[in-house]
Amino acid sequence: MRLLIVEDEVRLADTLRQLLNRQGYTADVCYDGVSGLDNAMTGIYDLMVLDVMLPGINGFQVVKKLREAGVATPVLMLTAKSDVSDRIHGLDCGADYYLTKPFEPEELLACVRTLLRRSGGQLQESDTLTWGDLSLERTTFTLSCAEREVRLSRREYDLIELLMRNGNQVVTKEQMLVKVWGYDSQAEDNNVEVYISFLRRKLTHLHSAVKIKTLRMLGYCLTQEVEA
Ligand code: CA
Repeated sequence: MRLLIVEDEVRLADTLRQLLNRQGYTADVCYDGVSGLDNAMTGIYDLMVLDVMLPGINGFQVVKKLREAGVATPVLMLTAKSDVSDRIHGLDCGADYYLTKPFEPEELLACVRTLLRRSGGQLQESDTLTWGDLSLERTTFTLSCAEREVRLSRREYDLIELLMRNGNQVVTKEQMLVKVWGYDSQAEDNNVEVYISFLRRKLTHLHSAVKIKTLRMLGYCLTQEVEA
């Protein structure tokens, strides 16, 4: 899961990032409306936390432009304004939810979970994602199969999560680079290959029937061997 935070108050932005990181989400931060919009336009984010009062262009304009461009990323708007007309304006512009500052961290996390679920994420209440005989635990970064479990690094976690969410579908190296390493990253195809090999080793260690299949020139997908 990759989230985008657009917030010009640096301390609040950092607090939000840490809060989301602790819950197992990867979060990128932009401090103004223009770069926030640029990043969000890539469509790679699963959710956007967007402040209203921003330098450059404001949050209302950001979400409006996003929706006009057909980007459907769920948007959670944050603002100091508690005026009802502002809330309505935000929702009219295409925001999905509105949270008034100051807010409780737990409240924000609950909104994030709700929006991610609504947008088709398969996360259950327990924050566990399952595919085949595998269970992936977001809060502890553990991957398990029956009685065995392994801890994953951040990248391994993001990569297997992406594969599990796509099930039998092919995920290209390019999608992996953008979703896992980020849009501006200098990472290359061989970075993906290295992490895929780490994950394969861990799947073997878990005695899982799930394999990461390589489709030459295309990418990777998960398959599950059926026992004879
Ligand atoms: Ca602000």
